[in-house]
Amino acid sequence: MPENLFEQLPAIDKWLASETGISLTAEFARTEVVDVMREHLNEVREGISNGLTELPDFNSPEYAALIRSDLLRKKSPSLRRIINATGVIIHTNLGRAPLADEAIEAMVRIARGYSNLELDLVSGQRGSRYQHVESLLCRITGAESALVVNNCAASVVLALSTFASGHEVVISRGELVEIGGSFRIPEIISKSTANMVEVGTTNKTRIEDYAAALSSETRVLLSVHPSNYKIIGFSEKTDSRELATLAQQNELIFMQDLGSGALADIKTGVSITEQLVQKSVADGADILTFSGDKLLGGPQSGIILGRTELIDAIKQNPLLRAFRIDKLSLAALVATLRLYLPPNDPAKKVPVLRMINEEEKSVDRRARNLLRQLRKIPGLTGTVVADVSYGGGGALPMSEIPTSILRIEMAGMSAGGLARRLRETDPPVIVRVKKDFLIVDPRTVLPEDVNDLVRAFRQIAG
Ligand SMILES: *Cc1c(COP(=O)(O)O)cnc(C)c1O
Repeated sequence: MPENLFEQLPAIDKWLASETGISLTAEFARTEVVDVMREHLNEVREGISNGLTELPDFNSPEYAALIRSDLLRKKSPSLRRIINATGVIIHTNLGRAPLADEAIEAMVRIARGYSNLELDLVSGQRGSRYQHVESLLCRITGAESALVVNNCAASVVLALSTFASGHEVVISRGELVEIGGSFRIPEIISKSTANMVEVGTTNKTRIEDYAAALSSETRVLLSVHPSNYKIIGFSEKTDSRELATLAQQNELIFMQDLGSGALADIKTGVSITEQLVQKSVADGADILTFSGDKLLGGPQSGIILGRTELIDAIKQNPLLRAFRIDKLSLAALVATLRLYLPPNDPAKKVPVLRMINEEEKSVDRRARNLLRQLRKIPGLTGTVVADVSYGGGGALPMSEIPTSILRIEMAGMSAGGLARRLRETDPPVIVRVKKDFLIVDPRTVLPEDVNDLVRAFRQIAG
């Protein structure tokens, strides 16, 4: 009878006085232990209501271990390292770009002590935090001047509010996009206190459309990379060189929000066809904005390139202070950018580029090695099959990279259930579930994560 089971649940006081309770309260605060015991009892009560017919042994060492692991989990920080087995390289939910060793070392160096963040060591006078990165960005991209803020969204707001506040920004209807959750171009323009003038249609916008919309109030022609959105088929987009020319003829600013910010070529054979920042600079964009933690592979930051008089005007905008980059991100960004200069090869040194460029053959070899280890786990079966990795949402629309994945099944467990159990391991493992299969893509699994990944599956198998 279920009623009996309810009556057999231990009272918290009695449970606390048991051997389990005594050992747990020796290690954790009494209130913490009580909270977790209550949660467990509530769960069991719910179980009884749903047909559970046998109670667990609340006083067993195994049950004490279960409560202990819950207590430990509650104590551990919420923000944790995870293993990305999804094959999505630039994943906003998973922290975007893993940093290069050089960038991590630079952050540690600057974090540990004081730095000349805003001190000119030659004159002993106040310096600018931006001087540490400006010439490097100009050298890599060919831009005249550069500025860095805390993310690309801030770059766009800052530039628009500097150049178009109270005036008009002309933009194609095909580029009024929403990028990742809450970054909506029309709202960003309105928050920059500029007036949006939409031209063309969703699928086609020509240079004549822009030309016809110009007025004495126009200040900026804005082009936005549609990022996670793509119009295919009957469509037409205006060439950026034409826009640069139109802007120049009318003494306007042509601003391009590139989003991803590719500074190095991607290996051929991958469907990533991002225009290089260097090309946009050469095509004559007056202002360019892009993220530091997408294709560039650095820390969260927003980069603004442009003509010196324009960058100087942005530096006068009081909003810059609110959007300024912090010293740790700045240190990591500088170190990452240096990997783009010879004799370094960014394709080898920058993790995001290394993952994108890894040959399918090499991923396949890693997949087979991993499977060999996983197959030793009782109840686990798997195969290696061809599939695709993804550049990542918000950065590289629909870019697919040929890869080799593991399709894994565990006896008595659904793919969704297994994925959930993997999220509960330490470190959590994030996978893809496609149809009824659990997919592990080794492309985004860092070499140092392999042992933890195997251990996670072993733990779940019991
Ligand atoms: C990602 C993206 C942004 C926002 O960049 P954050 O660095 O996330 O602020 C802005 N514009 C475009 C085109 C993007 O792709």
